[in-house]
Amino acid sequence: MRSKTDRSPLGHNVAWAYLALGGVMTLALVALRDSDYAALPTAVVGIGAAVCAIVGRLRNRPQVTLPWTLFGLAAVAFLIGAVLRQVLADQPLAPLADVATMSGYGSMLMAYVALLRRRQTSTRSLHEIIDGVILVISVAAFAVVTFTIPTAAALGLSLFSFVQGAYPVVDVLLLFVAVLLSWTSAQRVPSFWLLGGTSTFMFIGDVGYAYIGTQGRLVGSPLLDLPFVVAFTLFGAAALHPSMTELSALQARPVQAWSKARLAILAPALVLPAIIVIMDIGPASSWLGAGAGLGVTLLLLVRAIGAVQDHARSQQGLRHQAMHDSLTQLANRASLVEQVNNLIRRAGQQGDRVDLLFLDLDNFKLVNDTWGHQVGDRVLCGAAARLLAITLPSDVVARIGGDEFVVARYVAQPNSGSGELLAAQIIEAFQKPVAEAETDLVTTVSVGLVRSARVATAEGLLRDADTAMYRAKAAGRGRCMVFDSSMHDSVRHRVETELALRYALERQELVLHYQPIVSLQNGQVVGAEALLRWAHPRLGMVSPLDFIPIAEETGLIVEIGEWVISEALRQLARWRTVGGAAERDLWISVNVSPRQIRDATLVEHVQAELARHKVPADKLVLEITESAMMSDEATSAVLLQRLRSLGVTLAVDDFGTGYSSLGHLRRFPVSKVKIDRAFVSGIEEDADDAEIVRAVVAMSLAMRLDVVAEGIETEGQRGMLQQMGVQLGQGWLFGRPEPAEDCTFVTRQPARLNSYPT
Ligand code: C2E
Ligand code: MG
Ligand code: MG
Repeated sequence: MRSKTDRSPLGHNVAWAYLALGGVMTLALVALRDSDYAALPTAVVGIGAAVCAIVGRLRNRPQVTLPWTLFGLAAVAFLIGAVLRQVLADQPLAPLADVATMSGYGSMLMAYVALLRRRQTSTRSLHEIIDGVILVISVAAFAVVTFTIPTAAALGLSLFSFVQGAYPVVDVLLLFVAVLLSWTSAQRVPSFWLLGGTSTFMFIGDVGYAYIGTQGRLVGSPLLDLPFVVAFTLFGAAALHPSMTELSALQARPVQAWSKARLAILAPALVLPAIIVIMDIGPASSWLGAGAGLGVTLLLLVRAIGAVQDHARSQQGLRHQAMHDSLTQLANRASLVEQVNNLIRRAGQQGDRVDLLFLDLDNFKLVNDTWGHQVGDRVLCGAAARLLAITLPSDVVARIGGDEFVVARYVAQPNSGSGELLAAQIIEAFQKPVAEAETDLVTTVSVGLVRSARVATAEGLLRDADTAMYRAKAAGRGRCMVFDSSMHDSVRHRVETELALRYALERQELVLHYQPIVSLQNGQVVGAEALLRWAHPRLGMVSPLDFIPIAEETGLIVEIGEWVISEALRQLARWRTVGGAAERDLWISVNVSPRQIRDATLVEHVQAELARHKVPADKLVLEITESAMMSDEATSAVLLQRLRSLGVTLAVDDFGTGYSSLGHLRRFPVSKVKIDRAFVSGIEEDADDAEIVRAVVAMSLAMRLDVVAEGIETEGQRGMLQQMGVQLGQGWLFGRPEPAEDCTFVTRQPARLNSYPT
């Protein structure tokens, strides 16, 4: 595990350098064991350890310094103890050495406890402590039998023997905190292992002293200090190593499983009491062994019960998770389906019904996009709270998608309007604003309602309610629609069309027809509009009005639109090569849908296709309805500007049917306006229509926009429009949309076969 402080290589090096020094001191101790300087190596690493604790604390800047201060104090105390033990050997003040050493242990224990406090505990059962106590009981029993009692027997009952006997007990405690630290540290950094080594060698050293204690001696060979030299060395390196900060950083406890490593420690602890009894080492061993065995067994039981309870709890948690939405804590889809199916079954038996409401927040995406997901999440939680406040405890309330909620109510038969009533209440409640993001947010809700029929399933009800909800949205949001079976048919039609449309492109069922656009002055064809047709194998020629909206909704329009542009340009290129001068000036008009002008690939596609077919950019006109331009002004303005930069002409299609004014359109780089057929067809009979057209033409001309009048069917209309100043016209009077090969307005048609498809 690498940490921030790992970046300083000096930190590592210093730690390893100290380790090397310790190695030298270990060898020195062996060499000097019989000389007067035998205590020197121990003193060097002892002082070193204390210095390392201070330096490490200052250099590495751990979050908490207390453990390292205590470790430093412990090192100093051990050092003093070791020196006193040599100096005061066999003198009356000799126990002072033990006082120092014992304070060292005390300090070390406290340091471990301070580290342990950095391990977050949960309120759950503390399994690691039970495991630790099992270990302690069994090792302590062994230590008492093998060391404490023999030492007491050898030294007689005195303060001396008491202190000597206390060492193993302290060691057992040290072992306890060390394993606890190990079990609660998820990250095993170098400092962790070095500290673990420190405890191990301290333990070995103490066993050595305890052993000579059983023989009635307090001072032995200086080599007995060898483990302590190693321990001091490891400790110094642990304190210097940069990873020490992670050891004392706040950490979550890992899961307290009985891993192989832990079992390797626990299994001997479990058999140790039995061994004590069987080996019958001392007078009290059978009692101690049996007592320890009993204690261990009881603790195992507690541990097992705790583990089973934890398991049950986490199972319950998992089940809750599986059945609930994590954000709102409402039921999720799986749970909803289960509960609704139960309600339906009951209703079937009792002759009652289930009313199911499918809710979708209006404009929730806008909330998310404008104020961010946090506010979005709060709005969803607020919506859940509102629903819970309105509904009955017996209702099922669920969240089954982003901003989709479902309420299901069991309705006893005579109660006719229950679902509608509930929907009305919900819609009203959602009309009240909520204070969010420093403003008052109103997120109205659209509701689809369905009543369970004789044979119903939750999934079926959900599907129908969803359909009805879409109708509610289409009808203007913030309202409720009750499902009726005719909705099914239109949905089916939509789904089928969508599916068929996906294949239409592949199967080359889409074709373009071309309608001439003429100069009103001399009747000369100046351009043509490419109009899409779907040669459906069963339905015949399908009007774009029937399938473009579906293509638009499903996004298929992007792909289809690209094909239209390519095909229209290909056709124009063909006319340009086979035709004469008039064909060279001909431009082609292509319709572009709202979805396409949100798609950045449009620009690249247009550019590539113009180049591919070698058509000058000004011979391509892209027709965009005014509502398409207005619906997302910022995005469209950028995209239209890029198209305009290519040299492409932009036209406003169906002008007059939207809400915008010509002035408003000025922000877009358009240069043509197509006046909608609705006005043109009325201009002869309706004075208002005539006035509107006259005004639009006047203003367009003032803004230097070319005007095309659509849908001219009669000579009268043509005359009036020309009089008003309209230069260009399109309509049945001049020619209907026709396949390229039938376009008589192109003078020299190539052979039919060649024109489509290639
Ligand atoms: P639009 O762009 O306004 O196209 C003009 C529509 O008016 C065409 O209908 C055309 O056949 C019809 N029309 C032309 N002259 C007359 C006339 O004198 N009298 C009458 N009654 N109608 C006339 P069409 O081909 O059914 O297209 C309908 C709409 O579908 C188009 O309206 C256009 O918005 C859309 N559309 C057609 N092709 C495409 C396409 O390739 N892509 C996209 N996105 N939309 C297309
Ligand atoms: Mg058009
Ligand atoms: Mg039009």
